[in-house]
Amino acid sequence: MSESLAARAAALDAADELGKLREQFVLDEGVVYLDGNSLGALPRAVPGRVAEVVAHEWGELLIRSWTESGWWEAPERIGDRIAPLVGAAPGQIVVGDSTSVNVFKAVVGAVRLAGAGPGGAVRDEILVDASTFPTDGYIAESAARMTGCRLRPVDPASVPDEVGPRTAAVLVNHVDYRSGRLQDLPGITAAVRGAGALAVWDLCHSAGALSVGLDAHEVDLAVGCTYKYLNGGPGSPAYLYVAARHQAAFDSPLPGWNSHAEPFGMRPGFEPAQGALRGRVGTPDILSMLALEASLGVWSDVSVDAVRAKSLALTDFFLECVRAHVPAGQVELLTPSDHAARGSQIALRCAGASSVMASLISRGVIGDYRAPDVLRFGFTPLYVGFAEVERAARVLGDVLG
Ligand SMILES: *Cc1c(COP(=O)(O)O)cnc(C)c1O
Repeated sequence: MSESLAARAAALDAADELGKLREQFVLDEGVVYLDGNSLGALPRAVPGRVAEVVAHEWGELLIRSWTESGWWEAPERIGDRIAPLVGAAPGQIVVGDSTSVNVFKAVVGAVRLAGAGPGGAVRDEILVDASTFPTDGYIAESAARMTGCRLRPVDPASVPDEVGPRTAAVLVNHVDYRSGRLQDLPGITAAVRGAGALAVWDLCHSAGALSVGLDAHEVDLAVGCTYKYLNGGPGSPAYLYVAARHQAAFDSPLPGWNSHAEPFGMRPGFEPAQGALRGRVGTPDILSMLALEASLGVWSDVSVDAVRAKSLALTDFFLECVRAHVPAGQVELLTPSDHAARGSQIALRCAGASSVMASLISRGVIGDYRAPDVLRFGFTPLYVGFAEVERAARVLGDVLG
């Protein structure tokens, strides 16, 4: 059984068109890295580029780099490099700040854009994904208090039934960080927009792993981090998408001098810039931002559809290997087996998950643990191979057996 799985893994690796991308990353061959959904691996192009930015652009050019090295436009420029990965035309994404901060801009901005309901009725309700990553929920709660709204947690699948004439904005995680469930972005967005509210999507666990289609599905606002499947590095800046049709009215709750129409006019009154750069705030974190830009080079010849196809093949194969290697009844699958509802991770519930994960890591299989009882394995199609998937399941079987 396991010999045939190993042979299948070898054949799948041999046929894998994305397999050659692995050499663009710094990875330890002795380790199976299944935690790219927390921190993506280091692209080889990054250290040299960061050294150049520090030594030359900062060290030598100093202040001139804001213009001569393109530092000032980096948030928009890098936003335009992320855009095709999430199905957005240029000019709608700016990079900067953390995901948490961008959730704040997006949710408050959405409530301000929503305006009145039918017949002038107030829209005083924000719906939030009941299983959201915690930071989104904390920020949505504060945004609700600030805007005089009530926050109502709902299961994303029931948003079409729950959204109504009083709803201003709906914040949903595209892929659930714990279970790996992929939500129905087209259906939920259509229902939200149909009710006259705005759909705000958090793409942290989907961008870089599957196609999002922001423009095609008429998403209103979106945010995401860049250090998971986009491999931008620890704490690399997040991004904010403001659909072109909303930009003229987008009223950021964090207007800073970088989002001013004339930043160097140094005027006392705020006048917003045009376009996505309304989402900027203050001086961008250039070192992290340019590390992110260098890391995005790995996407130059990669199609997101090919990435998605490999992601599903990896997770399917992992499930098959887990069934073969792990004694029955030891783990419970939390991730939907239906492809249409699966992100790029597999979550398994098991007793003693925290110590099981510690044993896996000590044996060279790195995933992560989420309280209270979840083992999480993230599959980054750019650098994870099928033989590694088989090894991870085999080691899990040894640990649990
Ligand atoms: C990873 C993640 C975050 C992280 O927020 P930061 O502000 O970047 O720390 C937020 N939301 C979701 C859904 C995430 O998966």
